[in-house]
Amino acid sequence: MNILILGGGGREHAMAWAVRQNPKCDRLFIAPGNGGTAGIAEAIDLNIEDGKQITKFAQGEDINLVLVGPEAPLVAGVAGGLKAAGIPVFGPTAAAARLEGSKAFTKEICDAASVPTAAWARFDASDAAHAYIDEVGAPIVVKADGLAAGKGVTVAETALAAHDAVDALFAEAGASCVIEEMLTGEEASFFVLCQGENALPLGTAQDHKRAFDGDLGPNTGGMGAYSPAPVVTDTVTARAMDEIIRPTLREMVQRGTPFEGILYAGLMIENGAPKLIEYNVRFGDPEAQVLMMRLGAQALDLMQACAEGRLEEARVNWADDHALCVVLAANGYPGAYEIGSRIDGLPSLPQTSDRMVFHAGTALEDGTTLATGGRVLTATARGASLQEARDAAYDLARRIDWPEGRFRTDIGWRALS
Ligand code: AMP
Repeated sequence: MNILILGGGGREHAMAWAVRQNPKCDRLFIAPGNGGTAGIAEAIDLNIEDGKQITKFAQGEDINLVLVGPEAPLVAGVAGGLKAAGIPVFGPTAAAARLEGSKAFTKEICDAASVPTAAWARFDASDAAHAYIDEVGAPIVVKADGLAAGKGVTVAETALAAHDAVDALFAEAGASCVIEEMLTGEEASFFVLCQGENALPLGTAQDHKRAFDGDLGPNTGGMGAYSPAPVVTDTVTARAMDEIIRPTLREMVQRGTPFEGILYAGLMIENGAPKLIEYNVRFGDPEAQVLMMRLGAQALDLMQACAEGRLEEARVNWADDHALCVVLAANGYPGAYEIGSRIDGLPSLPQTSDRMVFHAGTALEDGTTLATGGRVLTATARGASLQEARDAAYDLARRIDWPEGRFRTDIGWRALS
Protein backbone atom coordinates (compact mmCIF):
# COMPACT_ATOMS: atom_id res chain seq x y z
CA MET A 1 0.00 0.00 0.00
CA ASN A 2 1.01 3.58 -0.63
CA ILE A 3 -0.07 5.75 2.24
CA LEU A 4 -0.23 9.51 2.76
CA ILE A 5 -0.40 11.02 6.26
CA LEU A 6 -1.44 14.66 6.69
CA GLY A 7 0.11 16.55 9.59
CA GLY A 8 3.42 17.21 11.26
CA GLY A 9 3.02 16.79 15.02
CA GLY A 10 3.78 14.10 17.57
CA ARG A 11 0.45 12.47 16.74
CA GLU A 12 1.39 12.11 13.09
CA HIS A 13 4.89 10.82 13.90
CA ALA A 14 3.27 8.16 16.10
CA MET A 15 0.81 7.26 13.33
CA ALA A 16 3.64 7.00 10.79
CA TRP A 17 5.69 4.90 13.22
CA ALA A 18 2.83 2.41 13.76
CA VAL A 19 1.92 2.25 10.07
CA ARG A 20 5.56 1.67 9.12
CA GLN A 21 5.66 -1.48 11.27
CA ASN A 22 2.96 -3.08 9.15
CA PRO A 23 4.42 -5.07 6.25
CA LYS A 24 1.50 -3.91 4.08
CA CYS A 25 2.96 -0.42 4.04
CA ASP A 26 5.04 0.16 0.93
CA ARG A 27 5.60 3.87 0.26
CA LEU A 28 4.76 6.24 3.07
CA PHE A 29 4.41 9.98 2.46
CA ILE A 30 3.83 12.66 5.04
CA ALA A 31 2.88 16.30 4.59
CA PRO A 32 4.65 18.17 6.09
CA GLY A 33 6.15 15.70 8.62
CA ASN A 34 8.94 16.69 11.01
CA GLY A 35 12.48 15.81 12.06
CA GLY A 36 11.35 12.46 13.46
CA THR A 37 9.42 11.27 10.43
CA ALA A 38 12.39 11.94 8.14
CA GLY A 39 13.74 8.39 8.52
CA ILE A 40 10.46 6.54 7.95
CA ALA A 41 8.40 8.61 5.50
CA GLU A 42 8.96 10.84 2.48
CA ALA A 43 8.21 14.42 3.42
CA ILE A 44 6.23 16.41 0.89
CA ASP A 45 5.27 20.01 0.66
CA LEU A 46 1.49 20.26 0.32
CA ASN A 47 -1.10 22.66 1.66
CA ILE A 48 -2.92 20.12 3.81
CA GLU A 49 -6.11 22.17 3.85
CA ASP A 50 -6.29 22.30 0.05
CA GLY A 51 -8.45 19.33 -0.93
CA LYS A 52 -7.77 19.64 -4.68
CA GLN A 53 -4.01 19.66 -4.17
CA ILE A 54 -4.15 16.61 -1.89
CA THR A 55 -6.43 14.64 -4.23
CA LYS A 56 -4.18 15.45 -7.21
CA PHE A 57 -1.08 14.30 -5.32
CA ALA A 58 -2.83 11.11 -4.16
CA GLN A 59 -3.90 10.28 -7.72
CA GLY A 60 -0.43 11.01 -9.09
CA GLU A 61 1.35 8.77 -6.54
CA ASP A 62 -1.18 5.92 -6.53
CA ILE A 63 -2.04 6.49 -2.89
CA ASN A 64 -4.31 3.72 -1.48
CA LEU A 65 -5.08 5.36 1.86
CA VAL A 66 -4.94 8.87 3.29
CA LEU A 67 -4.74 9.27 7.08
CA VAL A 68 -5.68 12.72 8.32
CA GLY A 69 -4.04 13.73 11.62
CA PRO A 70 -5.33 17.21 12.58
CA GLU A 71 -8.84 18.64 12.56
CA ALA A 72 -8.28 21.64 10.26
CA PRO A 73 -8.08 19.64 6.97
CA LEU A 74 -11.19 17.68 8.00
CA VAL A 75 -13.22 20.78 8.78
CA ALA A 76 -11.93 22.25 5.47
CA GLY A 77 -13.42 19.24 3.63
CA VAL A 78 -10.32 17.39 2.44
CA ALA A 79 -11.89 13.96 3.09
CA GLY A 80 -14.95 14.61 0.91
CA GLY A 81 -12.80 15.40 -2.14
CA LEU A 82 -10.72 12.24 -1.69
CA LYS A 83 -13.82 10.07 -1.23
CA ALA A 84 -15.38 11.56 -4.38
CA ALA A 85 -12.21 10.60 -6.26
CA GLY A 86 -12.50 7.03 -4.93
CA ILE A 87 -9.47 7.28 -2.64
CA PRO A 88 -10.00 5.71 0.82
CA VAL A 89 -9.51 8.29 3.54
CA PHE A 90 -9.49 7.91 7.30
CA GLY A 91 -11.43 10.89 8.55
CA PRO A 92 -14.92 12.39 8.28
CA THR A 93 -16.38 14.68 5.63
CA ALA A 94 -16.73 18.39 6.43
CA ALA A 95 -20.43 17.88 7.25
CA ALA A 96 -19.58 15.20 9.85
CA ALA A 97 -16.50 17.09 11.10
CA ARG A 98 -18.92 19.73 12.43
CA LEU A 99 -19.00 17.54 15.54
CA GLU A 100 -15.69 19.24 16.31
CA GLY A 101 -15.98 22.37 14.18
CA SER A 102 -19.07 23.73 15.93
CA LYS A 103 -19.82 23.31 19.60
CA ALA A 104 -23.42 24.48 19.04
CA PHE A 105 -23.91 21.82 16.35
CA THR A 106 -22.73 19.10 18.75
CA LYS A 107 -25.08 20.38 21.43
CA GLU A 108 -28.01 20.24 18.97
CA ILE A 109 -27.10 16.65 18.13
CA CYS A 110 -26.94 15.83 21.85
CA ASP A 111 -30.39 17.32 22.41
CA ALA A 112 -31.88 15.52 19.41
CA ALA A 113 -30.35 12.17 20.41
CA SER A 114 -30.80 12.56 24.21
CA VAL A 115 -27.05 12.35 24.84
CA PRO A 116 -26.16 13.33 28.43
CA THR A 117 -24.17 16.58 28.38
CA ALA A 118 -23.98 19.93 30.20
CA ALA A 119 -27.04 22.21 29.93
CA TRP A 120 -26.25 24.93 27.41
CA ALA A 121 -27.28 28.02 25.48
CA ARG A 122 -25.80 29.71 22.37
CA PHE A 123 -25.39 33.47 21.90
CA ASP A 124 -24.63 35.69 18.90
CA ALA A 125 -24.54 38.89 20.93
CA SER A 126 -22.76 39.77 24.15
CA ASP A 127 -25.76 41.46 25.86
CA ALA A 128 -27.80 38.28 25.93
CA ALA A 129 -24.74 36.27 27.02
CA HIS A 130 -24.13 38.64 29.96
CA ALA A 131 -27.79 38.47 30.95
CA TYR A 132 -27.69 34.66 30.90
CA ILE A 133 -24.63 34.60 33.19
CA ASP A 134 -26.41 36.96 35.62
CA GLU A 135 -29.42 34.66 35.55
CA VAL A 136 -27.72 31.27 36.16
CA GLY A 137 -24.59 32.39 38.04
CA ALA A 138 -21.18 30.74 38.50
CA PRO A 139 -19.45 28.33 38.20
CA ILE A 140 -20.10 28.33 34.48
CA VAL A 141 -18.23 27.54 31.26
CA VAL A 142 -17.84 29.96 28.33
CA LYS A 143 -16.73 28.60 24.93
CA ALA A 144 -16.04 30.10 21.52
CA ASP A 145 -18.28 28.39 18.97
CA GLY A 146 -15.67 27.30 16.48
CA LEU A 147 -12.27 25.68 16.17
CA ALA A 148 -10.06 27.29 18.79
CA ALA A 149 -7.24 24.74 19.10
CA GLY A 150 -8.33 23.95 22.65
CA LYS A 151 -7.90 27.56 23.73
CA GLY A 152 -11.42 28.93 23.38
CA VAL A 153 -12.75 27.58 26.70
CA THR A 154 -13.01 29.40 30.04
CA VAL A 155 -14.12 27.41 33.07
CA ALA A 156 -15.22 30.38 35.18
CA GLU A 157 -15.40 29.99 38.96
CA THR A 158 -16.95 33.44 39.31
CA ALA A 159 -19.54 35.39 37.34
CA LEU A 160 -16.96 38.16 36.90
CA ALA A 161 -14.56 35.78 35.13
CA ALA A 162 -17.43 34.57 32.91
CA HIS A 163 -18.37 38.16 31.97
CA ASP A 164 -14.71 38.86 31.13
CA ALA A 165 -14.56 35.75 28.94
CA VAL A 166 -17.68 36.87 27.06
CA ASP A 167 -16.19 40.33 26.49
CA ALA A 168 -12.96 38.81 25.20
CA LEU A 169 -14.84 36.51 22.80
CA PHE A 170 -17.11 39.22 21.41
CA ALA A 171 -14.17 41.58 20.90
CA GLU A 172 -13.84 39.72 17.62
CA ALA A 173 -16.29 40.46 14.83
CA GLY A 174 -18.80 37.74 13.96
CA ALA A 175 -18.19 35.85 17.20
CA SER A 176 -20.68 33.53 18.83
CA CYS A 177 -20.40 31.55 22.01
CA VAL A 178 -21.82 28.62 23.91
CA ILE A 179 -22.32 28.99 27.65
CA GLU A 180 -22.82 25.82 29.63
CA GLU A 181 -23.18 24.24 33.01
CA MET A 182 -19.92 23.23 34.70
CA LEU A 183 -19.67 19.43 34.99
CA THR A 184 -17.85 17.80 37.87
CA GLY A 185 -16.12 14.43 38.03
CA GLU A 186 -13.06 12.90 36.38
CA GLU A 187 -12.24 13.52 32.72
CA ALA A 188 -11.19 10.85 30.24
CA SER A 189 -10.71 10.55 26.50
CA PHE A 190 -12.74 7.80 24.85
CA PHE A 191 -11.80 6.77 21.29
CA VAL A 192 -14.13 4.95 18.91
CA LEU A 193 -13.65 3.92 15.28
CA CYS A 194 -16.88 4.73 13.47
CA GLN A 195 -18.44 4.12 10.12
CA GLY A 196 -22.10 5.03 9.89
CA GLU A 197 -23.74 3.15 12.75
CA ASN A 198 -20.85 0.71 13.20
CA ALA A 199 -18.66 1.52 16.16
CA LEU A 200 -15.56 -0.16 17.56
CA PRO A 201 -14.05 1.18 20.82
CA LEU A 202 -10.36 1.93 20.30
CA GLY A 203 -9.14 2.54 23.79
CA THR A 204 -9.08 5.25 26.41
CA ALA A 205 -6.57 7.77 27.71
CA GLN A 206 -6.19 10.66 30.11
CA ASP A 207 -4.09 13.71 29.43
CA HIS A 208 -2.64 16.59 31.40
CA LYS A 209 -3.52 19.93 29.82
CA ARG A 210 -1.94 22.33 32.31
CA ALA A 211 1.65 23.48 31.81
CA PHE A 212 3.03 22.73 35.29
CA ASP A 213 3.18 19.98 37.92
CA GLY A 214 0.11 19.57 40.09
CA ASP A 215 -2.08 20.43 37.07
CA LEU A 216 -1.28 24.11 37.60
CA GLY A 217 -0.61 26.96 35.21
CA PRO A 218 -2.07 27.78 31.81
CA ASN A 219 -3.76 25.30 29.49
CA THR A 220 -1.59 23.81 26.77
CA GLY A 221 -2.14 21.44 23.86
CA GLY A 222 -1.28 18.64 26.33
CA MET A 223 1.83 17.91 28.42
CA GLY A 224 1.49 14.14 28.74
CA ALA A 225 -0.97 11.25 28.65
CA TYR A 226 -1.45 7.64 29.57
CA SER A 227 -3.59 4.75 28.36
CA PRO A 228 -5.76 3.03 29.43
CA ALA A 229 -7.70 5.40 31.71
CA PRO A 230 -8.57 3.50 34.91
CA VAL A 231 -11.74 5.58 35.41
CA VAL A 232 -13.21 4.10 32.22
CA THR A 233 -14.26 0.72 33.55
CA ASP A 234 -16.12 -1.86 31.44
CA THR A 235 -19.40 -0.53 32.80
CA VAL A 236 -18.49 3.05 31.90
CA THR A 237 -17.47 1.87 28.42
CA ALA A 238 -20.81 0.12 27.93
CA ARG A 239 -22.72 3.17 29.10
CA ALA A 240 -20.66 5.57 26.95
CA MET A 241 -21.32 3.39 23.89
CA ASP A 242 -25.06 3.00 24.58
CA GLU A 243 -25.86 6.48 25.88
CA ILE A 244 -23.42 8.70 23.98
CA ILE A 245 -21.66 7.19 20.95
CA ARG A 246 -24.41 5.05 19.33
CA PRO A 247 -27.19 7.67 19.65
CA THR A 248 -24.83 10.27 18.13
CA LEU A 249 -23.92 8.03 15.20
CA ARG A 250 -27.60 7.19 14.60
CA GLU A 251 -28.51 10.88 14.58
CA MET A 252 -25.71 11.66 12.12
CA VAL A 253 -26.89 8.88 9.78
CA GLN A 254 -30.48 10.12 10.01
CA ARG A 255 -29.33 13.59 9.01
CA GLY A 256 -27.61 12.19 5.92
CA THR A 257 -24.14 13.01 7.24
CA PRO A 258 -22.77 9.70 8.55
CA PHE A 259 -19.59 9.94 10.60
CA GLU A 260 -16.56 7.96 9.45
CA GLY A 261 -13.19 7.97 11.17
CA ILE A 262 -12.12 8.27 14.76
CA LEU A 263 -14.59 9.87 17.13
CA TYR A 264 -12.85 11.08 20.27
CA ALA A 265 -15.31 11.81 23.04
CA GLY A 266 -14.14 13.94 25.94
CA LEU A 267 -16.08 12.46 28.86
CA MET A 268 -16.75 13.67 32.39
CA ILE A 269 -17.40 10.67 34.63
CA GLU A 270 -19.09 11.01 38.00
CA ASN A 271 -20.28 8.03 40.06
CA GLY A 272 -19.84 5.75 37.05
CA ALA A 273 -22.06 7.89 34.80
CA PRO A 274 -20.40 9.42 31.72
CA LYS A 275 -21.45 12.77 30.25
CA LEU A 276 -20.16 14.24 27.01
CA ILE A 277 -17.97 17.35 27.32
CA GLU A 278 -17.15 17.57 23.64
CA TYR A 279 -16.28 15.62 20.51
CA ASN A 280 -13.11 15.72 18.48
CA VAL A 281 -13.03 14.13 15.04
CA ARG A 282 -9.39 12.99 15.10
CA PHE A 283 -6.91 11.47 17.52
CA GLY A 284 -5.70 13.67 20.37
CA ASP A 285 -2.10 14.78 20.66
CA PRO A 286 -0.44 13.43 22.85
CA GLU A 287 -3.11 10.70 23.35
CA ALA A 288 -2.33 9.29 19.89
CA GLN A 289 1.26 8.62 20.96
CA VAL A 290 0.17 6.24 23.75
CA LEU A 291 -2.61 4.66 21.68
CA MET A 292 -0.35 4.05 18.67
CA MET A 293 2.30 2.51 20.91
CA ARG A 294 -0.28 0.13 22.39
CA LEU A 295 -1.77 -0.76 18.99
CA GLY A 296 1.42 -1.07 16.95
CA ALA A 297 1.13 -2.38 13.38
CA GLN A 298 -2.58 -3.25 13.69
CA ALA A 299 -3.34 0.49 13.77
CA LEU A 300 -2.99 0.44 9.99
CA ASP A 301 -5.39 -2.52 9.55
CA LEU A 302 -7.97 -0.82 11.75
CA MET A 303 -7.79 2.59 10.09
CA GLN A 304 -7.82 0.94 6.66
CA ALA A 305 -10.89 -1.16 7.49
CA CYS A 306 -12.65 1.98 8.63
CA ALA A 307 -11.67 3.96 5.52
CA GLU A 308 -12.68 1.13 3.18
CA GLY A 309 -16.08 0.55 4.78
CA ARG A 310 -15.20 -2.81 6.35
CA LEU A 311 -15.29 -1.81 10.00
CA GLU A 312 -17.67 -4.63 11.00
CA GLU A 313 -14.88 -7.13 10.16
CA ALA A 314 -12.31 -5.35 12.33
CA ARG A 315 -11.19 -6.49 15.79
CA VAL A 316 -8.75 -4.85 18.17
CA ASN A 317 -6.10 -7.13 19.60
CA TRP A 318 -5.37 -5.65 23.01
CA ALA A 319 -2.36 -6.60 25.06
CA ASP A 320 -2.75 -6.22 28.81
CA ASP A 321 -0.40 -3.23 28.75
CA HIS A 322 -0.07 0.42 29.70
CA ALA A 323 1.59 3.32 27.91
CA LEU A 324 2.57 6.75 29.16
CA CYS A 325 4.08 9.75 27.41
CA VAL A 326 5.80 12.92 28.58
CA VAL A 327 5.84 16.01 26.38
CA LEU A 328 9.04 18.06 26.20
CA ALA A 329 8.12 21.67 25.45
CA ALA A 330 10.15 24.79 24.81
CA ASN A 331 10.76 26.95 27.90
CA GLY A 332 8.02 29.60 27.89
CA TYR A 333 5.40 27.46 26.11
CA PRO A 334 2.39 28.02 25.95
CA GLY A 335 3.54 31.65 26.03
CA ALA A 336 6.38 33.04 23.96
CA TYR A 337 9.37 30.76 23.34
CA GLU A 338 12.48 30.65 21.20
CA ILE A 339 12.96 28.37 18.24
CA GLY A 340 16.09 26.99 16.64
CA SER A 341 17.77 25.53 19.75
CA ARG A 342 19.77 22.34 19.41
CA ILE A 343 18.65 19.01 20.92
CA ASP A 344 21.30 16.40 21.75
CA GLY A 345 21.23 12.84 22.98
CA LEU A 346 18.47 11.51 20.75
CA PRO A 347 20.51 9.08 18.63
CA SER A 348 21.67 7.16 21.72
CA LEU A 349 18.11 6.47 22.90
CA PRO A 350 16.29 3.19 22.26
CA GLN A 351 13.79 3.04 19.41
CA THR A 352 11.79 -0.10 20.04
CA SER A 353 8.18 -1.22 20.03
CA ASP A 354 7.89 0.01 23.63
CA ARG A 355 10.35 2.92 23.84
CA MET A 356 10.11 5.84 21.42
CA VAL A 357 10.69 9.56 21.40
CA PHE A 358 8.14 10.95 18.96
CA HIS A 359 8.92 14.30 17.39
CA ALA A 360 6.54 17.23 17.04
CA GLY A 361 8.12 20.67 16.50
CA THR A 362 11.53 19.56 15.21
CA ALA A 363 13.56 19.82 12.04
CA LEU A 364 16.69 17.93 11.02
CA GLU A 365 19.54 20.11 9.77
CA ASP A 366 22.79 18.39 8.75
CA GLY A 367 22.00 15.54 11.11
CA THR A 368 21.26 17.86 14.06
CA THR A 369 17.78 18.04 15.58
CA LEU A 370 16.53 21.59 16.09
CA ALA A 371 13.47 22.69 18.04
CA THR A 372 10.98 24.49 15.80
CA GLY A 373 7.83 24.64 17.90
CA GLY A 374 6.25 24.83 21.36
CA ARG A 375 5.65 21.15 21.97
CA VAL A 376 8.76 19.52 20.60
CA LEU A 377 9.17 15.86 21.63
CA THR A 378 7.05 13.16 23.30
CA ALA A 379 8.97 10.53 25.29
CA THR A 380 6.68 7.49 25.14
CA ALA A 381 6.96 4.05 26.76
CA ARG A 382 4.91 0.92 27.30
CA GLY A 383 5.02 -1.53 30.19
CA ALA A 384 3.16 -4.26 32.03
CA SER A 385 2.04 -1.65 34.56
CA LEU A 386 1.49 2.09 34.44
CA GLN A 387 4.39 2.56 36.88
CA GLU A 388 6.72 0.62 34.60
CA ALA A 389 5.62 2.66 31.57
CA ARG A 390 6.06 5.88 33.52
CA ASP A 391 9.56 5.02 34.77
CA ALA A 392 10.65 4.15 31.24
CA ALA A 393 9.13 7.30 29.70
CA TYR A 394 10.86 9.50 32.29
CA ASP A 395 14.13 7.65 31.74
CA LEU A 396 13.89 8.63 28.04
CA ALA A 397 12.92 12.23 28.81
CA ARG A 398 15.82 12.72 31.24
CA ARG A 399 18.37 11.41 28.77
CA ILE A 400 17.48 14.11 26.24
CA ASP A 401 19.98 16.96 26.37
CA TRP A 402 17.99 20.13 25.65
CA PRO A 403 18.54 23.02 28.08
CA GLU A 404 15.95 25.17 26.28
CA GLY A 405 13.18 22.68 27.01
CA ARG A 406 11.24 21.39 30.03
CA PHE A 407 8.70 18.72 30.97
CA ARG A 408 6.27 17.97 33.77
CA THR A 409 7.49 15.47 36.32
CA ASP A 410 4.12 14.13 37.49
CA ILE A 411 2.37 12.69 34.42
CA GLY A 412 0.01 9.92 35.51
CA TRP A 413 -0.16 11.06 39.16
CA ARG A 414 -3.90 10.61 39.48
CA ALA A 415 -3.94 7.05 38.16
CA LEU A 416 -0.96 6.09 40.34
CA SER A 417 -2.10 7.71 43.58
P1 AMP B 1 -13.03 21.62 25.27
O1 AMP B 1 -12.23 22.50 24.36
O2 AMP B 1 -14.51 21.70 25.09
O3 AMP B 1 -12.44 20.26 25.37
O4 AMP B 1 -12.74 22.14 26.74
C1 AMP B 1 -11.44 22.15 27.25
C2 AMP B 1 -11.46 21.71 28.67
O5 AMP B 1 -12.32 22.56 29.42
C3 AMP B 1 -12.02 20.32 28.88
O6 AMP B 1 -11.06 19.34 28.69
C4 AMP B 1 -12.51 20.39 30.31
O7 AMP B 1 -11.43 20.23 31.20
C5 AMP B 1 -13.00 21.80 30.42
N1 AMP B 1 -14.45 21.86 30.20
C6 AMP B 1 -15.09 22.11 29.03
N2 AMP B 1 -16.41 22.09 29.20
C7 AMP B 1 -16.64 21.84 30.50
C8 AMP B 1 -17.82 21.71 31.31
N3 AMP B 1 -19.05 21.85 30.80
N4 AMP B 1 -17.65 21.44 32.62
C9 AMP B 1 -16.43 21.31 33.16
N5 AMP B 1 -15.28 21.43 32.46
C10 AMP B 1 -15.38 21.70 31.15
